[in-house]
Amino acid sequence: MGPRILTLANQKGGVGKTTTAINLATALAAVGERVLIIDLDPQGNASTGLGIARQDRGLSTYEILLGEAGIAEASVMTQVPQVAIVPSTMDLLGVEAHISSASDRAFRLRESFKRINELLVDGRPVTYVLIDCPPSLNLLTINALVAADAVLVPLQCEFFALEGLSQLLQTIEQIRTTLNPQLYIQGVVMTMYDGRNNLSLQVLDDVRSEMGDLVYDTVIPRNVRLSEAPSYGKPALLYDLKCAGSQAYLRLATEVIRRERQLNAA
Ligand code: ATP
Ligand code: MG
Repeated sequence: MGPRILTLANQKGGVGKTTTAINLATALAAVGERVLIIDLDPQGNASTGLGIARQDRGLSTYEILLGEAGIAEASVMTQVPQVAIVPSTMDLLGVEAHISSASDRAFRLRESFKRINELLVDGRPVTYVLIDCPPSLNLLTINALVAADAVLVPLQCEFFALEGLSQLLQTIEQIRTTLNPQLYIQGVVMTMYDGRNNLSLQVLDDVRSEMGDLVYDTVIPRNVRLSEAPSYGKPALLYDLKCAGSQAYLRLATEVIRRERQLNAA
């Protein structure tokens, strides 16, 4: 069996997609999984946040989508044990122009995953792939949704949290009925929760009544350590394991694994 492939998507900017990709990957690795992050955002925040400097990025997701490199060749190990990444560069900004007229334009990432077992982390194939998407429902995000088993949606605890969600759900549904019938939503993770703020609580209630059990029990608190860590090129879990943000991502990893096991046993 291949790895579980999870796409972190929300076309809204700044909701915690990248922070979740980095720290969930680290938390999964901490409990024994071997994880590959695919940085599919031209901003390259996941690559930077994991300490992969721009000048050190060779092959990237750009070459993957162009079919010029395989996953195993383009992956690099991070300083986090058992976490590898395919970095991104600004080149990704131009990828649509190159592939948008190709009939297989939405399948480029999925195609590359056919040979993912060639990538060895700690001598063995990876067990989880996390795909970090740009804040847009463009061809990059479509590639991620077509290549994935499931979607994980980060939602920020703010007044407009649910705005735009229906568009994302519609897109997911469209992909399910056309390009990727087995796609499902793994869960919705509420981020930047501020317990001192009534609004946060209100938003959490609203989202739970709208999305029900899809919302993870684990809520990611607003935590300054989570926002500081990337400037040191580290996940928060390495920067400050004890902080509330790191602890929340450890709990989220347990929930994600439990859901995967339940879904695959069913
Ligand atoms: P983009 O859409 O631009 O890719 P994103 O959805 O990936 O953004 P992040 O980059 O993860 O969002 O987060 C946006 C900003 O909020 C970053 O500066 C990040 O450090 C900060 N941030 C994310 N989660 C938290 C949190 N739980 N507590 C405090 N700051 C956070
Ligand atoms: Mg991001």
